[in-house]
Amino acid sequence: MALLQLSGVTKSYGDLHALYDVTLNVQAGEWVSVVGPSGSGKSTMMNIIGCLDSPTAGSVVLDGTDLATMSASRLTAVRRQTIGLIFQKFHLVSHLTAVENVMVAQYYHSVPERAEALVALERVGLRDRAHHLPSQLSGGEQQRVCIARALINYPQLVLADEPTGNLDEANEQLVLDFFRQLHADGTTLVVVTHDPVVAGLADRQIVLDHGRLVREIDNAAARR
Ligand code: ADP
Ligand code: MG
Repeated sequence: MALLQLSGVTKSYGDLHALYDVTLNVQAGEWVSVVGPSGSGKSTMMNIIGCLDSPTAGSVVLDGTDLATMSASRLTAVRRQTIGLIFQKFHLVSHLTAVENVMVAQYYHSVPERAEALVALERVGLRDRAHHLPSQLSGGEQQRVCIARALINYPQLVLADEPTGNLDEANEQLVLDFFRQLHADGTTLVVVTHDPVVAGLADRQIVLDHGRLVREIDNAAARR
């Protein structure tokens, strides 16, 4: 069974369809990239999958359960335990250090555990930056803190919205190595990107245009 099933998902703002009748299945362990011009509905789709927003019509089924049938507290639990979110804009809390920013994610999950947050930072190569504030970190380092935060609970599904958009080449490679490792570990990945090289790393690409899913490209078949 697919881990994620979108059926006829539409998100409308008045007359504008940010997303229109999108049907998509993502298998457990699959890596899917989402591409399309600016304004085509990529972030809208990610926010709906990430339980940050709800569709105007259609359904989203995650691991067999329709999100629309979940209570608010269940949705919160899914958002905190099943899904890891990585954004282009880092959304770090400016007055908290790196390790404290990672602990914020855990705080929602259970009891914040500094040692675990430090392990997560170690995984992204930032153990020695644990006590720096975001303003004292480079863009690449801030993105790695976000990744540590997203991965601390070992989510089944990682959603990334232009995760390498602001990064230099070296940091982009670090982030992509992370995605390769997550994929190898069986994590399901949905990654929005403008970069054809990044898009090409996935098993499959879907193309959005004016809110519609207009094309799918089977990267795995293209590589064979
Ligand atoms: P992308 O991420 O592909 O650039 P978005 O999903 O952010 O596109 O936006 C898709 C469309 O929906 C755009 O036309 C955008 O202006 C519109 N949109 C997104 N969010 C809102 C909102 N909260 N209110 C009104 N329009 C919105
Ligand atoms: Mg966007």
